[in-house]
Amino acid sequence: MALDKQEIIQLLRTKGEERTSLLKRSQETKLNEVGNKVYFRGLIEFSNVCAKDCLYCGIRKGNEKVIRYDAKDEEILNASRFAWENNFASVVLQSGELSSPAFVKRVDSLLKKIKKLSSNELGITLSCGEQSRETYKRWFESGAHRYLLRIESTNRELYYKIHPNNQTHSFDKRVEALGFLKETGYQVGTGVMIGLPFQTYEHLADDLLFFKKLDIDMCGMGPYLEHEDTPLYQYRHLLQTKQERFDLALNMIAVLRLLMPDINIAAATALQAIDPAGREKALAVGANVIMPNLTPTAYREEYQLYENKPCLDEDAELCRNCLEARIHVAGAEIGYGEWGDSKHFSRRT
Ligand code: SAM
Ligand code: SF4
Repeated sequence: MALDKQEIIQLLRTKGEERTSLLKRSQETKLNEVGNKVYFRGLIEFSNVCAKDCLYCGIRKGNEKVIRYDAKDEEILNASRFAWENNFASVVLQSGELSSPAFVKRVDSLLKKIKKLSSNELGITLSCGEQSRETYKRWFESGAHRYLLRIESTNRELYYKIHPNNQTHSFDKRVEALGFLKETGYQVGTGVMIGLPFQTYEHLADDLLFFKKLDIDMCGMGPYLEHEDTPLYQYRHLLQTKQERFDLALNMIAVLRLLMPDINIAAATALQAIDPAGREKALAVGANVIMPNLTPTAYREEYQLYENKPCLDEDAELCRNCLEARIHVAGAEIGYGEWGDSKHFSRRT
């Protein structure tokens, strides 16, 4: 559906009956275009070592309170095996951002090992930040086929309010990296944080139009949540309430579903940090992907991007059982054993 900026802003602002009608329309669009199935991507947060200093993130390089970890290959492979044996069909390998040759080689070797242990069956999404064109190509050739790289905000000014303005953090490089991913052949996912200090409805409307223009295949976006040990915490007095950020995030998902009916949209974990049923609510208004956490429990405390991150003490088995029940209650079906690739990707390629 074509929507201009003013129409998008109006939809993002809706409340009451108009909002109910927006959410109903986006749900119908989802059912018609991508169906009632929810696809699992087992999330493995394999390292919190990061060379970057994003001003909002709890595991930023400058946060000295964080105990850094790098999961062992065996632990990552066990989590992948759990995903495969439980018919999740896909995993997401996520980490802080490093670009050293050793890191690039390690991810490359993990990809090959995960492919091997699953007889090439597990789908692999990477979320390891900005890398060179060559690195993206190398990882693609070793078995990764989807990549998540949130633009965080498409407004340049806001981007530099939430990232240091230096060579390590460059808006242009981030946009360029998304281009590299696309030309390499990945299913490309991006997204933004919603409810950031200084963020306006205009910015969010521009974000959605950017996704459409970039012709993305997948989106993961969720509410911004403050973390005490980050520089952005000083602006917490500017934030909307958590409930308002939550509602706005659902509106963003709904409008995106109308704008790009056949993409995959993830129900972000940050939604669950505000409302225990947050991810299921996102499924009901347009999302169709969920990322159950498979990170070894011992490391979860140290991968706290924001406060009150949910499921810190649940193991993979518990997470799966809990999600299964919740999705069942939400009336959706789990696409066990299916990659659940973005329909948009198949149509554009
Ligand atoms: N390091 C990689 C990157 O930045 O692309 C991947 C891991 S990073 C932790 C994944 C996402 O976490 C980021 O894209 C960001 O949107 C989100 N995130 C970080 N801090 C957050 C916060 N305080 N509230 C909500 N989301 C946050
Ligand atoms: Fe590092 Fe990603 Fe956090 Fe930025 S958002 S500090 S790149 S882990």
